[in-house]
Amino acid sequence: MHVPLPSAGSPWPELESRMRSMASGDVKWRDGRTGLYVFNAGEDVERVKKAAYALFSEENGLGPAAFPSLARMEREVVGHALTLLHAPEGADGLMTSGGTDSIVMAVKAARDFARAGGMSGQGNLVTPLTAHPAFHKAAMMMDLEIRRVPTKNLLADAEAMEAVCDANTIMLVGSAPCFPFGLIDPFEELSAVALRKNLWLHVDACVGGFLAPFVEMNGAVLPAWDFRVAGVRSISSDLHKYGYCSKGASTLLFRDAAMKQHMLFDAGPWPMGRMLTPTLAGTRPGGAIAAAWAVLNYLGIEGYRAKQALVVQAREAIEAGVRKLGFRVLGVPQLGIVSFTHDSFDCMAILRGLYARGWITAANVDPPSLHLMLSPKHAEVADAYLADLAASMEDAGDATPMPAPGYGR
Ligand SMILES: *Cc1c(COP(=O)(O)O)cnc(C)c1O
Repeated sequence: MHVPLPSAGSPWPELESRMRSMASGDVKWRDGRTGLYVFNAGEDVERVKKAAYALFSEENGLGPAAFPSLARMEREVVGHALTLLHAPEGADGLMTSGGTDSIVMAVKAARDFARAGGMSGQGNLVTPLTAHPAFHKAAMMMDLEIRRVPTKNLLADAEAMEAVCDANTIMLVGSAPCFPFGLIDPFEELSAVALRKNLWLHVDACVGGFLAPFVEMNGAVLPAWDFRVAGVRSISSDLHKYGYCSKGASTLLFRDAAMKQHMLFDAGPWPMGRMLTPTLAGTRPGGAIAAAWAVLNYLGIEGYRAKQALVVQAREAIEAGVRKLGFRVLGVPQLGIVSFTHDSFDCMAILRGLYARGWITAANVDPPSLHLMLSPKHAEVADAYLADLAASMEDAGDATPMPAPGYGR
């Protein structure tokens, strides 16, 4: 569709009002009406990240010599992440534009590490079925094979995964937690396989990396998954999820700086010589780096502990409420995601009812179940959600049209 650019520009106030009117049909996320896409830690956090983003919106992380400020902020953000995840001396990492970016870069590092070690065939990734499709995307881009292994009680089945590993396996994957069910895979078992077979074990903590450490500080006993587990070589942990930072910010962490070397690009030559970049990106938005630095320092450990306590409180309220309505919670979620199924109701029909009531939430197709990714804000709206859930059950079967469930609709 051609949309001709207006020949004369418009003043900002007019554009702002047009944009606000375009947003009027968007989900009311500030009221906590969405169980995906947005992490709502409150208006004060939103103000801080926007101000920090604006302060550095023109600066470019591609140029650390020109912008030592951004290089320093990135180093500090990565250092905070390494500390929270108990990385050993000699560990290193960097910021990327998001979880998918971190995962693709981790796979690239593992592939080039394997090649440096003599692997010459088509590499393969061994993942549980619950691993994020970003691993599949990475495999498509790098012509790798992906071997998706069925789970056991919804968790990675280390024994079954070991059985499909071979000399060309470049990476073993688990999630902390997986997105569909919010469950932390058994990393002690995956680590035992990785150490026995000398394999690269990656933890996808995109949605848990900035949540689990604080939930643990608040007293929960979680399965071990971070660098305290000996076989873990790399971890992806998103700032723009439970780190509550502006979108476009994730971290990728390596146990050893030597592993990180395999991630870097040394491209060219072209007329300007070689182009050395840490990630696929050329231009890297300074705003995303600055906002991440600002939010981490604005909240600090105490701030995160308080926000993450609200997430757990919301999850516990939802769990109790859905059980009263006859749902079965899938597995034992301990972080911010919960999925639940009903033996005598059609979950997709209930999802449509929720959608009609203004809730944008996700669902799993296998097993059919409703899915929520909870924010601190949800502690305030759990009761309203449960009331609308009950009402949606009553009229389940109503065929309100809605897009197919799933991501990116
Ligand atoms: C969100 C998520 C990703 C992908 O991150 P994006 O920032 O959306 O690219 C990967 N893995 C898990 C477990 C996630 O929850």
